[in-house]
This record gives sequence, structure tokens and C-alpha cells, in this order.
Amino acid sequence: MKNYKQFDYIIIGAGTSGCVIARRLLDHTNATVLLLEAGDGDPMADVTTDPDKWYMSFGTNIDYRYSYAPQPFLNNRVIPVPRGKLLGGSSSINGLIWARGSHADYDGWAAEGNESWDYQSVLPLFKRVEDWEGGETAYHGQGGPIHVEKVKNPNYIASALIRAAASFGLPIVDDMSGPNPYGAGALVRNVKNGKRSSAYTGYLLPVLHNPNLTVITGSAVTKLILEGSKCMGVKFIKDGQQDSAYAASEVILSAGSFDSPRILMLSGIGDPDELSAVGIKVAHGLRGVGKNMQDHPNLAILAELKKGSATDGLDLQISTVFAKSSYATYSSDLMFIAPPFPLTTPAVAEKYPIPQKCFSIISCLMLSESRGYVKMLSNSPFGPLEIQPNMFTQTADLKAMVEAVRIALNFSEQPALKEITQKIVGLSPLSSDKEIIDYIKLATASYWHPIGTCRMGREETDVVDAKLKVHGIEGLRVADASIMPKITSGNTHAPTLMIGEHLATDLLATDV
Ligand SMILES: Cc1cc2nc3c(=O)[nH]c(=O)nc-3n(C[C@H](O)[C@H](O)[C@H](O)COP(=O)(O)OP(=O)(O)OC[C@H]3O[C@@H](n4cnc5c(N)ncnc54)[C@H](O)[C@@H]3O)c2cc1C
Repeated sequence: MKNYKQFDYIIIGAGTSGCVIARRLLDHTNATVLLLEAGDGDPMADVTTDPDKWYMSFGTNIDYRYSYAPQPFLNNRVIPVPRGKLLGGSSSINGLIWARGSHADYDGWAAEGNESWDYQSVLPLFKRVEDWEGGETAYHGQGGPIHVEKVKNPNYIASALIRAAASFGLPIVDDMSGPNPYGAGALVRNVKNGKRSSAYTGYLLPVLHNPNLTVITGSAVTKLILEGSKCMGVKFIKDGQQDSAYAASEVILSAGSFDSPRILMLSGIGDPDELSAVGIKVAHGLRGVGKNMQDHPNLAILAELKKGSATDGLDLQISTVFAKSSYATYSSDLMFIAPPFPLTTPAVAEKYPIPQKCFSIISCLMLSESRGYVKMLSNSPFGPLEIQPNMFTQTADLKAMVEAVRIALNFSEQPALKEITQKIVGLSPLSSDKEIIDYIKLATASYWHPIGTCRMGREETDVVDAKLKVHGIEGLRVADASIMPKITSGNTHAPTLMIGEHLATDLLATDV
């Protein structure tokens, strides 16, 4: 049996960022790498590789099945938040939408003192990730591990959404990956030859045979091994047995926005008061661990299709719209997509009959200001977490969401969509703000983009510095969606791959 006790690097979590870091270390150094992954599902199963089946993993053994704590503003509803528990992590189960956000997102991170995270610095990393169908351009990369392409044949609802947005007054955009997406166009997806192109298939699979790599699936890290202020290794459980491994160089925590802070807290790194309250001995006080959580709230407006409209055989060949509420400063703060099925909450389904043939106009708030937290409820590595995004605790978020709903209703009144729409469920263009807010309370869900719980920055409440080193601890970095100081105005998969590339660049610059 292979001796997996001592490695140069240990990466916790073979998810989106974890796969990137492993691949770059293996490609460019002779370092030995241990990649520990809690999940043991098959990353090549149909449900993960077929882009049209992505949502079928919900509630299965490859989904952590997390939920947000009751949302005070949303009638105390509990909102499910799936997360991928397998090689590739959430990259293996996500909705394949490829969006980078705007250059202002990254310039904003840099303006907070995070050197080398401005748009000009991260653009080459975004390009390095990509194998764009159109080849190398100013904004796209070629030959990278993730194949990215535009939806080829938008279905008729998707085409109608583009035309409706245009007659509403938005520009039609050929390519949504520019520095400041605004307008309507075909969705861009990480799909190659009709299959998902993921952190697993693009980054990890090609190097699985590398003798310097050890991947152990079904192994959940329960604690970091600290000696004073230095991280030496990890403790993990595999097949019910405790084990441990040591890193000669560094430990990299890439377990995602819920489990990276959890592993820090289990190791005594966190808010001293919160750790003491659940019986965890404090090793290093770091108040920001688990704080600063953000997500993109979204909701579906359900549009019943006119009699005789086809829905069979419609797939996710959809389009997308980026728009601005009056609260947007520079970047678009709203996003709309229109999948050809009802994607709604149990609360809406309880109140309204859901038409048999309908599509959803999903309205997403992309620059939410509300912030929440992830908190340990016990000292058990597998116990429940309290995950509280505090949706709409900032009034501006609610006002922007009301505008998002009004814009979606306005789209539905444009000739292209009106032609195919029988009626809107529960709302109409004449709905009052109060009626819209009542609907928001019933219909809001998560876009599944939690970030920020190990925030990058220089303040006392930040967790990692701009090199992603944990403040006050040697030999330990965090690299995943949790380090984002502020949520991006696009979906979070591409930015999280970029974060992996950023860390890899730093490691390669210092590796001997
Ligand atoms: C259902 C869904 C749909 C989404 N749709 C989109 C989309 O269409 N477009 C988009 O841009 N973004 C989308 N996202 C968001 C995007 O996928 C995530 O932001 C991104 O993948 C997060 O990457 P990560 O590296 O932070 O975490 P993950 O990719 O989740 O990786 C974390 C890894 O760590 C492992 N792990 C956790 N705890 C431990 C432990 N204790 N020991 C060992 N391993 C551990 C996990 O099993 C997992 O493999 C979606 C997400 C979901 C869940």
C-alpha cells in the first residue's frame, strides 16, 4: 500500500479550486501532492457529464444537501443550497453557466488592498482557464483546460427573451465575457462536445496517473495539525478510521465556502467567543472566519405558455440578460435567464397552481449587499452548521429586487414574449410594490453562489492575505470561493477557477 503520510503539498477538497491547484503543481514542479476529497461519487456518471441533467444530482449522495437557516425576511423559509460532494466539487454538478462578472468586481477587490487582484492582473488567469471556441482574443483564452462555448441553437423561449430585452431597450451582445457584461445574448457554457467541461474533466482527469499525485476520495478532513502557529498537516477520516498526513511545504484549504471555515474552526482558528461557546479550544483567534457570507438571491416568475406551445424536447439552450437597477453603479446588478420549465419554491407552489406548460423568468440580484455567516453549532466535524446569508437585510437589496421583478414583468409584456405567454402566475405588470414584495418573500431562492466566509483582505476581520495565506498561521492557505471579499456580478464558477490559478501562480513563484 502506498505510504501517504508525508507530501510536499496537501490540498483539502478536490473541488473547483482544488483541482486547479493540484494540476498546476503537478505540471510545473516535482512536488508530491496529496488531494483529499470527502466525496466518493463517480464524477463521470451521466448525471454529472450530461449538461441537461445537472439538477438531477440534488438530494443525492453527491450533494451535501445544505440549507440556509430560516430567512427572517422571507417568511422564515429554509432555503436549500446544494454543494458538490465528489471529485470536481460543485464544478461537477453546477448549472454550467460561464460568467466572469465585471472588471469593477476585481478592481474593487484590489482597491481594498489586495494587490494583484485587479482586473488587468486576473484577466490573463481567466484566459489561462479557457479553451474558447473562437480561439484566443483580447478577452478569451485558447488551449486551457475548460472548453467554453456559446449556446448554439437557443430554444424559442430563449430567442424570445433576447428579442424582448432588445425591445425593452437593452443592447444585444455577441459575447458576454467582455469586461462589463450588459445586454442580452446567447448563454456561454462550459461544455465540450455536448459534455460538461469541469474542474475534474479539464484539470484533474488528465493528471490522475501522475506518480506525484495521491488522491484519496471518501476522506473527510476533520482538523488541521498545528504546532504553535505553523500548520504541519491534517487529520482525516477514511472508511471510519482516523488518519493523518503531513505537508513539508504547505496545506491548502479548498473545501468551499461552508467547509473551509468549518475546518478552520474545528482546528481552533476562528472567533474565540464562538469557538468557546461550542467547546472548541482556541488555537488562534481570527474573528472573520465564517463571517462576510454573501449569495445571489434569485426568484422565478412563472409564465404560462399559450395553448399548443411546445415544451417537450426543449433543453437548456438558453439565453441570458444582464441589466441594471437604479442601484447599480458601474456593473450590471441584475441577471435574467428563462429556462423552459418551472423552477420555483414549495411556498409558491403551495399558493398558486403551477401551469403544466410554463417557463421561468429567473431574476437574480447579482450585487447584493447583505451579509451573513457560517457558524458551528457543535464541535462535531459532521454536525449541522448554521448558515445564515441574511437575505435582504440591506434595504437596497430589496429595492433592487423589486426593480428586477418589474423588469422581468416588463420583458413578459414585450411582443416577443407576450406572443407565447398566456399569463404570469401570481403577478401582473400592474402589481403594487407590496404585492411584489409578498411574492419575493415566497419565491426567493439561492442562485447557489455562497462566497466570502474566509475573506481576503488586510483588516483584522479578514482571514487571508492577498497571497491567500491565513493571517497569523504559517504553511496554510485558503483558495476557493470563500476568499472573495465581495460577491462578483456574475456567476461564481469561473472566478473560483481563476482563484485556483491565482494561488497556483503564487505557489509556483515560490516553489523550489
Ligand atoms: C447546483 C449548483 C449550481 C451552480 N450553478 C452555477 C453556474 O451555472 N455557473 C457558475 O458560475 N456557478 C454555479 N454554481 C457555483 C459554483 O459552482 C461554485 O461557486 C464553485 O464551484 C465553488 O467552488 P469551490 O472550490 O469554492 O467549492 P467546491 O467546488 O464545492 O469544492 C469543495 C470541495 O471540497 C470538498 N470537501 C468539503 N469538505 C471537505 C472535507 N472536510 N475534507 C475533504 N474534502 C472536503 C467537497 O466535497 C468539494 O469537492 C453552482 C453551484 C451549485 C452547487
